[in-house]
Amino acid sequence: MDCVFCKIISGEIPSPRLYEDEDFIIIRDIAPQAKCHYLALPKKHFADVTEMTAEDAALVGRMLRKIGELAPTLGLTGGFRLVSNKGADAMQSVPHLHIHILGGEKLSDKMC
Ligand code: AMP
Repeated sequence: MDCVFCKIISGEIPSPRLYEDEDFIIIRDIAPQAKCHYLALPKKHFADVTEMTAEDAALVGRMLRKIGELAPTLGLTGGFRLVSNKGADAMQSVPHLHIHILGGEKLSDKMC
């Protein structure tokens, strides 16, 4: 499948992993929009939240819980923002569900 995130997950495209378990990996975003900008990528390919099965939803729930646990080690002691874009209006550029994790500084009070 021609998916940049699948290629990162398989190792075809090198990208250091800050965290990995059987469900997902966390990498740094290549074009950071905050002092800390990470991406949480499920190992299973599905395009976005509208394509999740109930099993995928449970997986995403585990991802969110783990992100919360990892926050201090990711430099996010002051808080963080999670974003998952879907579709053209949201400017989703990679159709493999991912959660942006943003923080490490005071973020804008505007959502976009
Ligand atoms: P979105 O626009 O929500 O689909 O987010 C896709 C994100 O993936 C963007 O913030 C990109 O900067 C990021 N990105 C694209 N290619 C890579 C890559 N090879 N390594 C890390 N981040 C990437």
